[in-house]
Amino acid sequence: MKLTSHGAAGGVTGSKHLLEVNGKRILLDCGMFQGRRKEAKELNHKFPFDPKSIDVVVLSHAHIDHSGSLPRLVKLGYDGPIFTTFATRDFCNYMLLDSAYIQEREAEYINKKKLKKGEPMVEPEYTQEDVIEALHQFHGIGYKRAYHIAPGVKVTLYEAGHILGSAVVYLEIDDEEDGQHKTILFSGDLGRRGLPILKNPYQVEKADYYITECTYGNRFHEAITDVDNKVADIVNRTVQKGGKLIIPAFSLGRTQEIVYTLHHLFAKNRIPHDLPIIVDSPLSGNVTEVFKAHVMDFDEEARNEFLRNQENPFGFGRLHYTRNVEESKALNNSRVPMIIISASGMCEHGRILHHLRNNLDDPKNGVLIVGYMAQHTLGRKLVEGQKEVNIFGEPHQVRAEINIIDAFSAHADRSDLLDYAVKIKGLKKVFLVHGEEEQALSFKESLAENGITNVEIPQPQQTFTL
Ligand SMILES: [Zn+2]
Repeated sequence: MKLTSHGAAGGVTGSKHLLEVNGKRILLDCGMFQGRRKEAKELNHKFPFDPKSIDVVVLSHAHIDHSGSLPRLVKLGYDGPIFTTFATRDFCNYMLLDSAYIQEREAEYINKKKLKKGEPMVEPEYTQEDVIEALHQFHGIGYKRAYHIAPGVKVTLYEAGHILGSAVVYLEIDDEEDGQHKTILFSGDLGRRGLPILKNPYQVEKADYYITECTYGNRFHEAITDVDNKVADIVNRTVQKGGKLIIPAFSLGRTQEIVYTLHHLFAKNRIPHDLPIIVDSPLSGNVTEVFKAHVMDFDEEARNEFLRNQENPFGFGRLHYTRNVEESKALNNSRVPMIIISASGMCEHGRILHHLRNNLDDPKNGVLIVGYMAQHTLGRKLVEGQKEVNIFGEPHQVRAEINIIDAFSAHADRSDLLDYAVKIKGLKKVFLVHGEEEQALSFKESLAENGITNVEIPQPQQTFTL
């Protein structure tokens, strides 16, 4: 049996791990690379393996850096099943169509310029038509049910507690090559205990091999319990200044958690009741609808709240969603204080760019960063405190107050990662993926301090025999 990481190896995006066993090729995740534009584009364009040679895909969750290249895989010839949870399947409908739409618009924009210069046209990596094709290959499976996905291979999905529908992937394998029974656990993105709406990560207690993310292998998050106070302070400060608070947020997960938190603050009269919250992302509106259809995946508190108040679960009812570009642009002319939540989460594309362009230079305004920002993204530059940033190729002064709250993080921090790993019995080897080098190296050290010494940090395309 062989394992090769073709993405999220030595970095955090493009999650793709290929398992070759019993003559079959099983791909864990098929995520899109993000970050430096040219580099990411090349990596997303061509797979380092033949898509036709893949037999089965298992998808851990719906975030684009785990699912975003599935339509490309299908476009280039993959015609097998894509196993994932029901919620992830439903989220992918919207997430992948949105990704295709963004690419189509970008190609259109670039081609207008190319036409004038007489240069060859570009194509999106996939279109909405390609997404429809790929969606036909999805198979939803329930949590905690073992499914045969290949000869001698069973998969079970358990809650990862990262976003709704997210799973850790447990594989039970009868390896024909050596007659051994082997188990592999793939963390996908591992969540944290106590996150709003979500169940806690399910602890798998035994595995031979563990492929784990280590996004925050060297970081400790703020306690989730302080979040209400911090958000209230930031919101009230911005309102007093008469400014707008811009919150870049992934459409899936973070947007709903922020809204859930604001909802509680409104209920306790801790922020002004008439403060408009605009969710400027049609995708977020659609994704929120999917939440309502997956109550069984909520934690107990959220489930009870939902069942009590189905008209307005989590305060979703008081939000104003913008559905078209005109509405979105009108927000720029409005002078009243408001909260604008918009995507993309790392400020790489989408409407958030317009809001940042229009609001960053005014010290009255605030930006609230609540999510992970990968290297080289605009969001990361704001986190690093850069005083001038480029948006749509033009420089903009950063005078708005930049606030960072990492307590919302949907990723396990170092202590969560460690706690999860040490509870797995029988580990023969651990693979650290989905982390920048510094995070992976540091986490490797802390694993060693806790007696887990057989740890690899795979490089892209590096193959291991298990
Ligand atoms: Zn994720």
